[in-house]
Amino acid sequence: MSKEYEVVIGLEVHVELATKTKIFCGCSTEFGGAPNTHTCPVCTGMPGSLPVLNKQVVEYAASVGIATNCKINQNCKFDRKNYFYPDNPQNYQISQLYQPICINGGVEIETEKGGKKTVGIHEIHMEEDAGKLIHDEWGESSLVDFNRSGVPLIEIVSEPDMRSADEVIAYLEKLRMIIQYLGASDCKLNEGSMRADVNLSVREKGASEFGTRTETKNLNSFKAITHAIENETARQIDIIESGGKVVQETRRWDDTKEYSYPMRSKEDAQDYRYFPEPDLVPIVISDEWLEDIKSRQPEFRDAKMARYAEEFDIPEYDIDIITGHKKLADIFEQTVALGANPKKVSNWLMVETMFLLKERGQSPEDVSFSPENLAKLIKLADSKTINNNVAKEVFAKIFDEDIDPEKYVADNGLGAVSDEGELKAVVEKVIAANPKSVEDIKAGKVKAMGFLVGQTMKEMKGKADPGTVNAILKEHFKEYM
Ligand SMILES: [Zn+2]
Repeated sequence: MSKEYEVVIGLEVHVELATKTKIFCGCSTEFGGAPNTHTCPVCTGMPGSLPVLNKQVVEYAASVGIATNCKINQNCKFDRKNYFYPDNPQNYQISQLYQPICINGGVEIETEKGGKKTVGIHEIHMEEDAGKLIHDEWGESSLVDFNRSGVPLIEIVSEPDMRSADEVIAYLEKLRMIIQYLGASDCKLNEGSMRADVNLSVREKGASEFGTRTETKNLNSFKAITHAIENETARQIDIIESGGKVVQETRRWDDTKEYSYPMRSKEDAQDYRYFPEPDLVPIVISDEWLEDIKSRQPEFRDAKMARYAEEFDIPEYDIDIITGHKKLADIFEQTVALGANPKKVSNWLMVETMFLLKERGQSPEDVSFSPENLAKLIKLADSKTINNNVAKEVFAKIFDEDIDPEKYVADNGLGAVSDEGELKAVVEKVIAANPKSVEDIKAGKVKAMGFLVGQTMKEMKGKADPGTVNAILKEHFKEYM
């Protein structure tokens, strides 16, 4: 008879901040770039170089803390975390252990049963990222690229409050949305600007003590996180059921094999010989500075949803989807501000944009077209300069290449033909060529008219205004209608 188990999960989420320069030097944080071109003596750990703190890092970290209901430590400081690894040129990482910038927060998530629960945030601290090792597949060497060394990170450490993979995903989505709304990071899991390590243990249902936990790293998608949680839960239950003991360790997830393997035994803080960073002065966040950061917090999702419901006549469902992604909300508001009808803007986002995102395997954060071009397209469709089919075709071009629809329609001769004389001639030609349909219509099968509309559209290479074609046909067959 097998027992019932409960899974207990806490997360460590690393987020790369969207600053232009690194945390302790003026080097660019831009992704890509030839190896070791965004480097200087500070971020390559040269002896005698001194770090200087980037003020924007403090502001982003504090703004995330405020938005996640944390207490802001107005007196905080940095510590050295000592360890050797080839991508860590100083042999220590500047991080925060004793006085992190934010503590004791939490965010509310919706659970799968439709309820709400709060996931506690133990702390948020600031730290520097390490470089990147590149293992030479052909030679016997490993190379190191220090472009990422010194890119600012915040680490958001949750309490062990989550009890399922669904709750973990809900928590991560909530964090991502808050941080994207703040503009503090783009939070792209696939590019590593948001990374989650999962601390997981299992215990018998009803037990008050936690089991021994493992930490799983290298999770770069929501799918990988879900699978790793399911996999690790089953592994730990198996060990316990067969009378074994779970070992506290760090495991690495292999996404292609859908399997994790041990990386190293899990260290505790004392293993790192933390001590106060002597090269940086403590950070003092004055009341004025804190108030200033608070006053610059953006309108978050809940407030935005309420405002949309008030201001725009669009369905609640649309509001939910659009405000679920900062990027979509921005495009929506900017396009409406250009004079476009809110319902129409919403339709283009909800139907065609979603369709193309799915088809291209992209997420809403990847949307890159400009509100100006969407507004122009809506205008072209409203004035019947182009018909609906052409509008869809042009939108796909806007979606992929952000083309100017006015110019594109003119250059490609896509303007709808609504000149009655011209259309009438084509309709008559189609009628003459399709005696069977004409018979059907005369026999009362009005449906056959749709076929003639289709044939006319085909003849006109899709550029006719279907409304006008319909009207011409109806007029022609009016005695049989
Ligand atoms: Zn540098």
